Parts: sequence; C-alpha cells; structure tokens
Amino acid sequence: MNRSKRTIVANWKMHGSLSMARDFLEVIAQQSFAAGVEIVICPPATLLYEMAHQITGLDIRVGAQDCHAEKEGAFTGDISAAMLKDAGCGYVIVGHSERRSQHGETSALVKKKAQAALDAGLVPIICIGETLAERQAGRAKEIVGQQLRESLPEGDFILAYEPVWAIGSGLAATSDDISDMHTYIVSQTHGAHAVLYGGSVKAANAREILTIAGVSGVLVGGASLKAEEFCKIIAAA
Ligand code: PEP
Repeated sequence: MNRSKRTIVANWKMHGSLSMARDFLEVIAQQSFAAGVEIVICPPATLLYEMAHQITGLDIRVGAQDCHAEKEGAFTGDISAAMLKDAGCGYVIVGHSERRSQHGETSALVKKKAQAALDAGLVPIICIGETLAERQAGRAKEIVGQQLRESLPEGDFILAYEPVWAIGSGLAATSDDISDMHTYIVSQTHGAHAVLYGGSVKAANAREILTIAGVSGVLVGGASLKAEEFCKIIAAA
C-alpha cells in the first residue's frame, strides 16, 4: 500500500438516485485534484454498476458499503464480494458501526467479510471505533484494540477509525483524540495500513484533520452527498 497517498472515501449510506449520481459525477469531473489523492465513492448497491461505468476516464474509484461473507448461496437480499467486483467495484466498506449495531455484526463476521473482499480482489475498508459510553468509561483503546485483534484478515486493507459518537452528530473528535487513537492504531498494526478518520468530517474541518499524524485520509458520510462540499474536502487533501 502506498502510504504517501491520501484516501478520501464517500459513504452515501441509503441516499442517492441515478440522477443525483450523474449530477454528482458531472461536478467532480470538472475539478482537477492533486495527484496522490485516491477518491472512492460508495453509493447504495443500486448505483454501483452505473457509477462504476460513468467514472471511466476519471481518477475515481467506486466501492460498496457492505458485502456477504460467503461466495454465493441462499442468502436472499445479500450481495457477494465477487458480485461487487463484477459490477465494477474496487473497494468495499465492512464493519461500519451502523452494520455492527443495526445488523448485529460481530468483529468475527467483519473479518470474514474482509477476507471475502480480498479473495474477490477488492480492497476492504474496515471500520472500527468506540461508542460514547465506552469512551466515557475510559475504554476507547481497549475496545478499538479488541476490534483490531478480531476484525482484521491477512492482506492489504484500509482501516477507518470512526468513533461512533462522532458519526452523523456534527461533532468530530478533537485533533488530540484523533491523534492519540491513530497513533495507537498505527502502532498496533505496525504502520502497515492506511488509517482513515471518519465522523462529522466536512469542508470546514477536513484540512485540520488531514494534517494530523497517522491520518491517511477521511471517510465522509453526510458531507459527501453534496458534490461541491465533497470537492472541497478532496481539495483539502
Ligand atoms: C460515516 O457514515 O461513516 C460517517 C463518518 O458519517 P458522517 O460523516 O455523516 O459523520
């Protein structure tokens, strides 16, 4: 993995439509961004194929927001990593806190999904992060350390530290807290993987966050839905 690269990931969650995706890419295509910035857009599954084929000629990649751990089978409604690859994806987010909390996904399952992604030729973006109660109890590193031990496969992947309390709250972690946790994660993983920060990143705070030691990029939710705002975040990298 090229560690000098900055990675900016958009997580659209369950938002977006074909027309929105086309308008979004039209705005992005008009910008010129610095070399060495890796841009990954993760729209809902319905838009993956369309976006993967619309980005031809642009320095942008498309990723999914989840995958199944198995290659194929009787799993109604699920999508395998190989299917995502077939649709044109290069990346897949796994273990997002919304999947962990709303779908009961354990770190053991996240590890299997990440392995399935690697086996299919995708780069997994593995999310980790503590809840507010865990942080307030002084257990943030203990929880993140356990997620690191239990969620990571062998291979090349990207990590995203996303404190659960900072996601969608409008309240990003402080630079000190980000620096402290990223230093911990980098030391636990021997500096072998890019570590993104996620949680209320917007144009106004992106530059400051991206200059923190140990931060290789950002994972952006709400602020990635507006092309102009997302372009400013990319420009900050
Ligand atoms: C996310 O969904 O991973 C996220 C970081 O969301 P937001 O930027 O809206 O906090």
